[in-house]
Amino acid sequence: MTVSTKPTTAPGAQGTGTPTIWLDGKWCDRSTATVSVYDHGLLYGDGVFEGIRAYGGKLFRLGQHLERLYDSAKAIWLSIPMAPEEMAAITEEAVRRSGIAEAYIRHVITRGVGDLGLDPRKCPKPSVVIIVDTIKLWPEQVYEAGLNVVTAGTPIPQRESLSPRVKSLNYLAHILAKIEGIHAGADEVLMLDSAGSVAEGSGQNLFVVKGGRLRTPPPYAGILKGVTRDVVIEIAAHAGYPVEESILNRYDVYTADEAFFTGTASEVVAIRQVDGRVIGSGKAGPITRDIRARFQALVRS
Ligand code: PMP
Repeated sequence: MTVSTKPTTAPGAQGTGTPTIWLDGKWCDRSTATVSVYDHGLLYGDGVFEGIRAYGGKLFRLGQHLERLYDSAKAIWLSIPMAPEEMAAITEEAVRRSGIAEAYIRHVITRGVGDLGLDPRKCPKPSVVIIVDTIKLWPEQVYEAGLNVVTAGTPIPQRESLSPRVKSLNYLAHILAKIEGIHAGADEVLMLDSAGSVAEGSGQNLFVVKGGRLRTPPPYAGILKGVTRDVVIEIAAHAGYPVEESILNRYDVYTADEAFFTGTASEVVAIRQVDGRVIGSGKAGPITRDIRARFQALVRS
């Protein structure tokens, strides 16, 4: 999907601006953006979402994110009531109005308002929400020090039930895994698929580095195909690091020279330890740092 990503004009400096929400055609702020308790997104998690960043007021990989949003909606039989081009234009306008240059944008499309039964035919119109705000998952020093990660006992959903490729409003497995990590005193979790192969983090994709090669689980393994993951694969190819999409198990992670997570909110973040095994030097390794630096340069280019 090709969507123009025109720089928005007059963005504020980082930290300035006002959270701005577009809700079914109305411009709102945090206090006025409210949805019905009969919305099936709330009652049943019936909907899809996206998370996008803007750097310097310019949306990063908007086209790819919207393509995933529309594909996710199609997979759950949800028809988004506007064309991707219109969604892109409203998103750009929302970022411009917010005045937030370093923004995090959340799109939420729900089945809409219905009755208390789960029949989606009772929901005549999907609800569309676009939130422009900011996000900060970890303090800056974590990107150099690396995350302490544990494997969660909760696997990601089986790929033939609700495909992990669908970015749906059903995030409970990932949230349960995250809570396990919090109880274990870890920064983040590694989630396995139902066969025990390594899948992803609670909101990130995983890469390991061994002998100068990058390895990451393939999308068909049952992961969310991250936009940042795709960007990192491009960056690595450009930088001359071979990349292999292959099934990984925890042994591959424990014995890696380096490991890192990727995600829109997380960007590129090093992993220093997994299940008590120190990864490589126990801090961001040279290839992770190089990929992160190239990523930072790319998002601002
Ligand atoms: N996996 C999951 C489960 C996620 O929620 C996310 C965040 N969207 C990712 C991976 C990373 O995807 P992206 O790089 O597109 O943000």
